Amino acid sequence: MKASPKDTIDKSASDCKYIFVVGGVISGVGKGVASSSIARILEDRGQKVTAIKIDPYINIDAGTMNPTEHGEVFVLDDSDETDQDMGNYERFLNTDLTRINYMTTGRVYQTVIEKERNLEYGGKCVEVVPHIPLEVIRRIEVARDNAKANVVIVEIGGTVGEYQNMLFLEAARMMKIKHPKDVFFVMVSYLPIPSKVGEMKTKPTQYAVRTLNASGISPDIIIARSKQALDDRRKEKLSMFCNVNVERIISAPDVDSIYDIPVSFEKEGLGNLICDLMDIKCPPPGSIGSKKWAAFVKLTHSAKTEVKIAVIGKYFNTGDFTLSDSYLSVIEAVKYSAYTQGLKPVLSWLSSVDFEKNPKLLKELSFYDGIIIPGGFGTRGVEGKIKAIQYAREHNIPYFGLCYGMQLLVIEYARNVLGLKDANTKEVNPSAKNIIIDIMEDQKENIATKRLGGSMRLGAYPAILKKGSVAAKAYSAEAISERHRHRYEVNNSYVEALQKAGLVFSGMSPDGKLCEIAELPASKHPFFLGTQFHPEFKARPLSPHPLFTAFIKACKKKK
Ligand code: GLN
Repeated sequence: MKASPKDTIDKSASDCKYIFVVGGVISGVGKGVASSSIARILEDRGQKVTAIKIDPYINIDAGTMNPTEHGEVFVLDDSDETDQDMGNYERFLNTDLTRINYMTTGRVYQTVIEKERNLEYGGKCVEVVPHIPLEVIRRIEVARDNAKANVVIVEIGGTVGEYQNMLFLEAARMMKIKHPKDVFFVMVSYLPIPSKVGEMKTKPTQYAVRTLNASGISPDIIIARSKQALDDRRKEKLSMFCNVNVERIISAPDVDSIYDIPVSFEKEGLGNLICDLMDIKCPPPGSIGSKKWAAFVKLTHSAKTEVKIAVIGKYFNTGDFTLSDSYLSVIEAVKYSAYTQGLKPVLSWLSSVDFEKNPKLLKELSFYDGIIIPGGFGTRGVEGKIKAIQYAREHNIPYFGLCYGMQLLVIEYARNVLGLKDANTKEVNPSAKNIIIDIMEDQKENIATKRLGGSMRLGAYPAILKKGSVAAKAYSAEAISERHRHRYEVNNSYVEALQKAGLVFSGMSPDGKLCEIAELPASKHPFFLGTQFHPEFKARPLSPHPLFTAFIKACKKKK
């Protein structure tokens, strides 16, 4: 029989420090990057850090949200569909995280309700408080143990004062009561400079801190985000009215690159401050891993020659604003490979729908050194993407297709080289005669029964590479493992014909049944390759992705 869930917090269990990162004033000012940067500087000072993201919405995962609503869906090795901040943690910590590092309100309630249905609460009345916060705490503890971490950073999504993150703040407060010397709070706040006033304003942050106080929590540190650095006057004001010592107010002005932030946090004294606060012995910065990081940051500043990449997609617009968040990992992956090639990446966002409305625009693609078509779903913009791929193939422009970008590469080839004019994916035209991209066998039932959440082919799967191929050369390996997120696949009945027509399937699942990479040989095209998986999820600043690097090298040659 399973043990009952605890209804108290195990006091002895803490050899660990917990840093809760909360947001004040507005969202989107870099709480995730601040959390990742704190994680980075502590790792560089010899600590074993893990990071947890809490998203307060009901969705069980980020997989059911439109990217324009919530940004990129970041997929983990273990198949979890998570928030883009998990990508930041993995990139900054250079590590693989698992589903226990990500929680949502929906996920927490789901577990509690399942346990209740299994009679695991032993006849007790199961209540929102304390059982929901206790489940939050249990998850934090499991993540800590799995990572064998001595520092856990927990980022609570949204901003304080929002009804939906109250139970998470309550969990943090409960942990603080049990472990007063081990639990700390960092508030990442924003100080606006209204253009008509011309002065940096502290009042919104003061209110945010008071709201946090109402949850029984006081911040230990305030990271004050703003357009420019805070002056002493602002720091003193914040200190006085937020009850935080002046040296614990960290100025965090806008920077060119998020990778500068760990460096600038150290300069502001945040590393020493946190180590003192946690009362742990931290070697000084620079003594462990920060040299590698510093070398990478240097590259981001020294690269001057531009490499121009067109990213063709459709998840760009929210109201009147353009958003590139939907493809965050793609952008980052391009950056790492470009910087290590001594190039400065310049990305342009092109809407594929525009190519449909005005095919003359395709000509503009020749101004770019390379083209990427990232993942996508549905019908809108697909024809424009296929036209762009054809243009890239016929004009020798390096092309890199990710997931949908690979499927459409195969369709383009089938249409324009094999001559199957109505070639299509079942996702777009189920009645096409030539279904080149078909629904995966085990996905049919999911779709028929509308089991759509968390049911795609997700997470890490292995693939075997064809010797001598562009892919095998890029990876310098015969076998790889990459992360997936799709329901459709290349229809094997067309593989032979496509191969005869020159397309190479250079990556296959180990059983040989599923096409993972399609490419043209180096003798036929500078770079024309698509992956059924999402290589971008495994690109890291300290280990750029080999396929992105091969693509960027081809772009460099085209220049
Ligand atoms: N829509 C395609 C599929 O489901 C591709 C998905 C993607 O690009 N992530 O197979």
